[in-house]
Formats: sequence, C-alpha cells, structure tokens
Amino acid sequence: MEAGRNSAGTGAGVTPPLEAEITRTECKQCGSEVSGLNGRFACTLCGWCNHWSEGHSELPAAEDDPDYPG
Ligand SMILES: [Zn+2]
Repeated sequence: MEAGRNSAGTGAGVTPPLEAEITRTECKQCGSEVSGLNGRFACTLCGWCNHWSEGHSELPAAEDDPDYPG
C-alpha cells in the first residue's frame, strides 16, 4: 500500500526566486554570524532581524501575491 506516498509536501512545483543570493552578516544584537537571502537577515539566536529596506532586491508588490484580494 503506497497511497499518498508522493502527495504534497515534497517541494515539487516550488520555484526559487530568480536572484536569490545567500549573504552573511554579523548580528547587530548578539554578534553571531547570520545567514540570509539578498541582504535580509533574521537571527535565530536572539530574534534580531534587519529592516526590509536593507535588502539588495526589490520585494514583490501586494498585487504580485496569488492571494491578493484585488
Ligand atoms: Zn542575534
């Protein structure tokens, strides 16, 4: 019986961002090394995160969200 073996949750169909670059910085709060994408960081140790505007790329607009109510 293999029912449901290849169902959702395998990551199929998930497209990574075209210009996703892994970047590193020092946490401004606890000083540990933090990895992020495109200049946006969130520290898993202390919860620090930088401001979205410090990112290297444009964020998608609300209209680009598939769930945008219109
Ligand atoms: Zn931190």
